[in-house]
Amino acid sequence: MVVSLFDPWQSRLCTCPKKYSLNPYTGCSHGCVYCYITSYIPRGFKARLKKNLLKQLKRELAKLDPRIPVTISNSSDPYQPLEKDYRQTRACLELLKNFNFKVQIVTKGDLVVRDAQLLAEMRAAVAITITTLDEAIAAKLEPFAPPPECRLRALQHLAERDIPVACRIDPIIPGINDDVAELVKELADIGVSHVTSSTFKPRPDSWRRFSEAFPEAAARLKELYFEKGTRMQNSYYLPEEVRFRLMQRVRDACDKHGVTFATCREDFKLNTAPSCDGTHLLWSSYTSDAQRTY
Ligand code: SF4
Repeated sequence: MVVSLFDPWQSRLCTCPKKYSLNPYTGCSHGCVYCYITSYIPRGFKARLKKNLLKQLKRELAKLDPRIPVTISNSSDPYQPLEKDYRQTRACLELLKNFNFKVQIVTKGDLVVRDAQLLAEMRAAVAITITTLDEAIAAKLEPFAPPPECRLRALQHLAERDIPVACRIDPIIPGINDDVAELVKELADIGVSHVTSSTFKPRPDSWRRFSEAFPEAAARLKELYFEKGTRMQNSYYLPEEVRFRLMQRVRDACDKHGVTFATCREDFKLNTAPSCDGTHLLWSSYTSDAQRTY
């Protein structure tokens, strides 16, 4: 199967509305230090094509419910470098459009602007992750992803074409990227209407990468994560009061600039948006849609 219901580890903290998940690629070459895919995808940072993806997708879409949106993607970036040559994501979008599915793109790739026209012709919303405006920090956190400035310009490009856009400020790492005031202001200025955020929840492999990239921060945070924090499934959470403070800070910035806010897998009542993941944007521009599913 190439499309499945989104259900990350059946976490009780996941508040996402019902949606399908589709990953046009296996693995992701952006190599973000905080990424969790390396804990369950072998050679997770070696992106590769999926065999017979389009044939299989066409077969599956014919049997699925088009009232349920499809999110692309959760375990790989749909606009990572391979997409430039292979256009798998674009081909998936064309199929989804033919089958009248609503699509939410989640990416760090500014290549998404290549498909702006197609996205404008279908029911689509785009969430671009920007964790910081600081190019040097971003280069360490997300070594092979486009720099934050390119992602901001991509959001602006899409917003100017009336494609609903959100930003994932995700994850927040204390002392690394927890001052989001300027970022949220820039997002609001270019027409981003929703922010989803969460705190860094390392697993053993992402903690190892983080410690290599930010040794001083890792030494400072080690006790908070591994002695004072809690472990849920295979992830380590900061103490609740620390997570709450970090999320409140992002929410305050969003409130100040009129941007809706939601947390991702934090279990706090801080959300000001109808959905945590930004899928409500798929309906916001289409108020006549009688087939709303949440
Ligand atoms: S873009 Fe997403 S899937 Fe790709 S490495 Fe970064 S966090 Fe992982």
